[in-house]
Amino acid sequence: MAVDIIVCIKQVPDPVHFSRISLDPATKTITREGIPVITNPWDKNALEEGLRIRERSSGKVVVLSMGPPQTRKSLEEALAMGADEAFLLCDRAFAASDTLATAYTLARGIQKIGHFDLILCGNETVDSGTGQVGPQLAQFLGIPCVTSVNEISFEEERKLIVKRGLERGHMKVKLELPALLAIGREINKPRLITAFGIMQAAETDITVWGCEDIGAEPDSIGVKGSPMRIVATFQQHPKHKGEIMTGPPEEVVNKTIEKLRELGGLI
Ligand SMILES: Cc1cc2nc3c(=O)[nH]c(=O)nc-3n(C[C@H](O)[C@H](O)[C@H](O)COP(=O)(O)OP(=O)(O)OC[C@H]3O[C@@H](n4cnc5c(N)ncnc54)[C@H](O)[C@@H]3O)c2cc1C
Repeated sequence: MAVDIIVCIKQVPDPVHFSRISLDPATKTITREGIPVITNPWDKNALEEGLRIRERSSGKVVVLSMGPPQTRKSLEEALAMGADEAFLLCDRAFAASDTLATAYTLARGIQKIGHFDLILCGNETVDSGTGQVGPQLAQFLGIPCVTSVNEISFEEERKLIVKRGLERGHMKVKLELPALLAIGREINKPRLITAFGIMQAAETDITVWGCEDIGAEPDSIGVKGSPMRIVATFQQHPKHKGEIMTGPPEEVVNKTIEKLRELGGLI
């Protein structure tokens, strides 16, 4: 059985550099200039799961992202991991989309790509992390959606059983394709990129589509299509000064214990 899979990936600021991120007081958005970017880690788990399903059942794995031109890097990485095709939805008109406008734009892109059996998203992102895009996208496409998925198994052709994490335990859900699954981090360990993968990726073109290419309604994308408004932002400043202990491990441990006793943290 062939399963055609579309994996949605978002490029995000690298959490290692989060301390360099600031909020623009005028636009109330994150200033990302100069901050190194990575592929959202959950999306790599989603891609890995897509690749594993393809290895078991054939079909193709397509990666899709909406973002600025630099998002190509994440798509190239996905191709190097083993994706068959890559699509970038890139247009100034998509800028400042909230989750609804993002989901709408991705849905238009998916409709233009055409056939799919399974859509895989990350459960959330490391930057704004609303976890809304997957369920909203499923709604636009009119397909069932399961979030926090930690295990996928095929019961029979086109019928899946997925295990989703709950606060205290898990739940097993049966569903039929086509469907959308939002993937959790525990599901797998994404594969490393090989030199062969990089060579293959270099031979694969990334298709770039703008607003008109996907037939998006101008009122449903970007700022116009985003009902969410950020009314105020503030930055939290640490109330206490941190202290870095240096020296050999034993000395550092003793200094730390002494300091904690001094501050009343240890009796
Ligand atoms: C601090 C902050 C707070 C925000 N709060 C809200 C809010 O409360 N409500 C709101 O509507 N918007 C909010 N936004 C805007 C939001 O970041 C964007 O709409 C963004 O495009 C998607 O939201 P997310 O990162 O939360 O995605 P999530 O819903 O957490 O993403 C889940 C998955 O959807 C897929 N996905 C998400 N974005 C893309 C993309 N561009 N391309 C391909 N796949 C994608 C990925 O697979 C991802 O793992 C906020 C932005 C900031 C900076």
